[in-house]
Amino acid sequence: MIKSAINSEAALQKDRQYLWHNITPYNEAAPPMIAESGQGAWITDIHGKRYMDGMSGLWCVNVGYGRKELAEAAYEQMMQLPYFPLTQSHMPAIRLAEKLNEWLGDEYVIFFSNSGSEANEAAFKMVRQYHQQTGQHYRHKFISRYRGYHGSSLGALSATGQAQRKYKYEPLTSGFLHVAPPDSYRRPAGQSVEEFNLQCAQVIEDTIIWEGAETVGAVIMEPVITGGGIIVPEPIYLERVQEICKRHGVLLIIDEVICGFGRSGQKFGHHNFGIKPDIVTMAKGLTSGYLPLSATAVRKDIYEAFKDPEDEYSHFRHVNTFGGNPAACALALRNLQIIEEEQLIDRARVLGQRLRDALQTLVDHPLVGDIRSFGLLAGVELVADKATKQPASLDIVKSIIAGCKQHGLIIGKNGDTVAGFNNVLTFAPPLVCTDEDMEFLITTFLKVMGEH
Ligand code: PMP
Repeated sequence: MIKSAINSEAALQKDRQYLWHNITPYNEAAPPMIAESGQGAWITDIHGKRYMDGMSGLWCVNVGYGRKELAEAAYEQMMQLPYFPLTQSHMPAIRLAEKLNEWLGDEYVIFFSNSGSEANEAAFKMVRQYHQQTGQHYRHKFISRYRGYHGSSLGALSATGQAQRKYKYEPLTSGFLHVAPPDSYRRPAGQSVEEFNLQCAQVIEDTIIWEGAETVGAVIMEPVITGGGIIVPEPIYLERVQEICKRHGVLLIIDEVICGFGRSGQKFGHHNFGIKPDIVTMAKGLTSGYLPLSATAVRKDIYEAFKDPEDEYSHFRHVNTFGGNPAACALALRNLQIIEEEQLIDRARVLGQRLRDALQTLVDHPLVGDIRSFGLLAGVELVADKATKQPASLDIVKSIIAGCKQHGLIIGKNGDTVAGFNNVLTFAPPLVCTDEDMEFLITTFLKVMGEH
């Protein structure tokens, strides 16, 4: 016991000395959790304390921690062929690309990278080159939504609509425009949810027209805004966006980095809305976070434009050394098999419903402005005043998160501090939660809310 206390203090000191953490302010008083092991929906830190991971890491450990099958799939592939570039080919990438087609339910060609940001960067370059090669030389602009997140690299960050992540690094890449998301909770008084959603879609069409439709390359959006605070559109919104894109020759990129791989209660988030995107980007749940891998799926007929025999520069001029690593592909394939064999997509729907029902009991809580969910994703928007919808203070949000952590439950917080919104508590537990895990999450959260 004493030995482990000494070790953990030394680990913390070394952490502070050598490690630069992701998007987390340095805080001497709140040391990072140093995780040591994981099983199912639970992780254990170096002090031996257990936490239920209500956020699946960064929304990615869909099949849960400690899956030996995944480690074995990677190990076997590493022993056989640990690396080969996808300037040529290898069987794990071929098999995975075929499997992703089956999951997408349509004809796509797959380009592999390592992260969600890179998958989106590849998509942006494909869009620009595609339009050039089909004689539409001015179509270089992208439209995305405020509050949406598409990655940390300069292009993907330019598409991102969260000021807090951008303002220290501006000016970013030109050619990225933003429109308001269909945040129905904050719609104008007197407007129905459907009218508001249609109006938000119409703003996209107006933007295309005012920019000059022949200058707009693509619209990119998540099916549901996740990191920006779980903003769930009406189905009519996405249907209308698709119609608008088609009408103006603008491609539709759907970012499935979080919503994909069962999280939404379907294979992909957009399957809930009956749309057929031109490009689908994915990462996170593709490997359940066990190894880095992402993919950009492109409709077959778009890919055809990159095969002009008369033009020696018509192929995609983009290379990614590690993208589609054989071990990552073999692991991803096994991960998809697990999701199928264990019927985790059905399970996500059942767990999501249980979570939704439980969160609804908070509807009269003075801090709770809105409760939103989509598959096994949920968000609770906290307000200081239910009538004005003024966002709750960051201190309250942090206090609830800290209270949960004290009781062994990790939940998330999302929004945009700079824009004055950082008031949505988020939930994205692994799809393998047991009934007991879900009851633990619910009772712990409700208890902590009861103390606020
Ligand atoms: N798109 C979405 C919707 C995301 O949530 C994220 C990551 N949170 C990304 C893209 C970027 O992924 P990565 O961090 O793997 O680059």
